[in-house]
Formats: sequence, C-alpha cells, structure tokens
Amino acid sequence: MTNNIYFIANWKMFGKISSINSINKVISLSKSPKYKKAKIIYCPPYTLLEKFNKKTINTNIQIGAQNFDQLSDNGAFTGSISAKLIKDTGSSYVILGHSENRKIGETNKSINLKIKSALKNNLNVILCIGETLKEKKNKKTNKILAYQLQHCLKNIKEKKNIIIAYEPIWSIGTGLIPTNENLQKIILFIRKILNKNYKSLKVKLLYGGSVNPKNIQDLNKITQLDGYLIGGASQKQHYFIDIIKKTIN
Ligand code: PEP
Repeated sequence: MTNNIYFIANWKMFGKISSINSINKVISLSKSPKYKKAKIIYCPPYTLLEKFNKKTINTNIQIGAQNFDQLSDNGAFTGSISAKLIKDTGSSYVILGHSENRKIGETNKSINLKIKSALKNNLNVILCIGETLKEKKNKKTNKILAYQLQHCLKNIKEKKNIIIAYEPIWSIGTGLIPTNENLQKIILFIRKILNKNYKSLKVKLLYGGSVNPKNIQDLNKITQLDGYLIGGASQKQHYFIDIIKKTIN
C-alpha cells in the first residue's frame, strides 16, 4: 500500500457518551509521526458525532456518520436526519449503502440520491458494495458489483470525494473473509471498472468484513487496497491499534 491508508471505524449502534475515552490511545497513536499515513475515520452513532468531533479537534482523525435518511436538508420529517445536519456536527464523512441498510430496504437508486445529497453538503462518501453468499456461490459477484457501482454512481460527475468499500455481505460480522486469491481478483475487477468509467480519478478502494488483528497481516498482502472498513474490531481500541500497527510498519 502506498500513500494514506484508511482505517474507517464503523461503530454501528454501539457506544455511549462515556465511550469517548475509549479512543484516547488511538488519538495518541495518530499523533505519532510513524503513523502519519494512517487516515483514521471514526463513524460512531449520530448521538456521539458532535462529542467525537470535539474530542478529535486538534488531531488528524476525522469523523463520519453511518447513514442518513432524508434527501431534503431540513423539513417536517420527525425523527429524521439529513446530510446537512450531519455536516453541522463537524463531521466530514458518511457511510452509504451498507448492507445492513440495504437489507432493510435501501436500494441502489436511493443510495445514488443520498450520494448526491451528501456531496452537495460537502460530505465525503464511503460507498459500500458487496454480494450475498448465494450470489457468490452462483458466481454472480462481478455482475452484482458492476451493477451496484453503475447504479449507485449514476450521473455523479464529481467522484474525488467518494471511497469505495468492498464488503462481501457473508463476511460482515461472521469471522469469514475471502481467500487472498479471491479478494485480489475482485479488487482488480473493481479497479478495472473504476478505471474504465472514471479514468481521470483514482478512487480509493477499501476492504471490509471481519477485519481483525489475526487476519490483517494476510489481508495486507493484497495489493491495490487503500485500507479497511472495520466494524466489530474497531470498537476495542487495542484491536484497532493492533490492526493499524500491523499495517503500517
Ligand atoms: C461493517 O459493518 O462494515 C463491518 C465490516 O463489520 P465487521 O468488521 O464487524 O465485519
């Protein structure tokens, strides 16, 4: 891996106000010159966004949300949240298209509209794509990924603020990961699509799904990756630090 390496922490629906102190050691690590290349982005629940932004204000760590549900900036939408409100917390990223949201009704079309709203509000987008186990077994992975990319990125001209996270659905939270050989092929396939359609820009490409301190060294052998989207292991700072240290050495 070259340049900056992304370590995006997806805390899902976990974390209390008091959890803020559990990132202290990660903050210290981020200040060390050795780990300057680590681009650490915490994506806690909405309730903690402002707190995380304040805590990391004089550091290289950035903060993102895990989704939003309204395309309008403001309005009479009780219980909803928009890209504009996320931006107002000081956050600069948002995860979109996560399979846990696709599972409850999010479509490529709605993700496409959300990406446009996020970019309009100057949020960087982490777009998740990935196949189910059934699709993998039916050898449909490439077809699914190409379809998701095509539809999620439809009519979006400005792609420099978009990061793609390949997250095989069968790998999220299961402890299973693709073989290196398989993952390398998929990453090259995604790169090929991105290079063909979005030639002028080098879109960042991450892997996500059960990344942990035990498998990170193997994953690091995959070339052409710009980093990782990490769920469970990012909530324990010693695991998260271990992953960062084993990647940047
Ligand atoms: C995720 O939720 O994006 C994720 C990758 O989770 P985990 O690392 O727990 O598999």
